[in-house]
Amino acid sequence: MECQLTITRTEQKKEKPASDKLGFGVHFTDHMFTMDYTEGKGWHDPQIVPYSPLTLDPAAMVFHYGQAVFEGLKAYRNQEGKVRLFRPDQNFKRMNRSLERMSMPLIDEEFMVEALKQLVAVDKEWIPTESGQSLYIRPFVIATEPCFGVRASHTYKLVIVLSPVGAYYAGGMKPVKIYVENNYVRAVRGGTGNAKVAGNYAGGLKAQVEAKEKGYEQVLWLDGVENKYIEEVGSMNVFFKVKGEVWTPALNGSILEGITRDSTIQLLKDWGIPVVEKRISMEDLHTAYVNGELEEAFGTGTAAVISPVGDLNWNGHQMIINGEKTGELTTRLYDEMTGIQYGEREDKFGWSVKVTE
Ligand SMILES: *Cc1c(COP(=O)(O)O)cnc(C)c1O
Repeated sequence: MECQLTITRTEQKKEKPASDKLGFGVHFTDHMFTMDYTEGKGWHDPQIVPYSPLTLDPAAMVFHYGQAVFEGLKAYRNQEGKVRLFRPDQNFKRMNRSLERMSMPLIDEEFMVEALKQLVAVDKEWIPTESGQSLYIRPFVIATEPCFGVRASHTYKLVIVLSPVGAYYAGGMKPVKIYVENNYVRAVRGGTGNAKVAGNYAGGLKAQVEAKEKGYEQVLWLDGVENKYIEEVGSMNVFFKVKGEVWTPALNGSILEGITRDSTIQLLKDWGIPVVEKRISMEDLHTAYVNGELEEAFGTGTAAVISPVGDLNWNGHQMIINGEKTGELTTRLYDEMTGIQYGEREDKFGWSVKVTE
């Protein structure tokens, strides 16, 4: 791609939030990256510009037919000021898979990693440095052509915005309560479940609201065909430790292929812990629980990294896991993964990518 990235710095830097008041995804940095696509011309005009609202035609196709994909990753800054990304190539690779699924134009993955590094470097003062804090990175692509015809848009915009975020576990790791969803489904075979697309989330909100009303933090999604097999937990992939073995649902086309999931599997294998990717029915999991074999459960995703599950409700069967305490393996995975992310532990897989020395 013959893209010359131009940088226009802001003349009015914003005030940064206090480090104990970061929250998640509510503060945004001084700059953003944008790039446009026009059919026949391809992607063009990549630029880093001051953070500002987008101006879109109300007929822009994204508002009507939902051609929108996104990604989520983080930049980590350690006490010495070194800034690192975690497997950013994987995010742009996945973005291309999502774009392909939504009939949207593909991007140059290597160029995007370089552009992202430049954006993060421009706003590096925004990256909080206290334990567990990071800079959340949100790349997304939307259809911008004003047209009510139901077809793929001819123009698109790619944007990356950055948000300093607080520690996910401000008061220490706390196991979550999960409601096994029997009514709504997140994804179906042949659908868009394995693409990171905005619409998947919109369709999942109702179940989340109802689970909250019942006193649960998130839902466990079952497969959309038979309503039997475990797929994901909220917007995370899910793992179960059963009799010393770790189970996770095999990718089946409706499960989102998490980068934290893949990293978890690689770490477990490296540690010599057996990992099995297979179809897991709720019934089999419940049997393991009743037999006292379900030792730990946790979700994996960029935001929380590793999130212990302490309580599962399946059709009124309550399953209390590890006495609602964070398990040993769950803790070990969290410590190892975050250690690599902040550059504090050996990175034998080459996952950590330096933005600044
Ligand atoms: C993003 C996402 C995940 C987690 O992916 P990571 O790459 O590990 O952050 C899992 N499930 C869904 C539905 C997601 O959108």
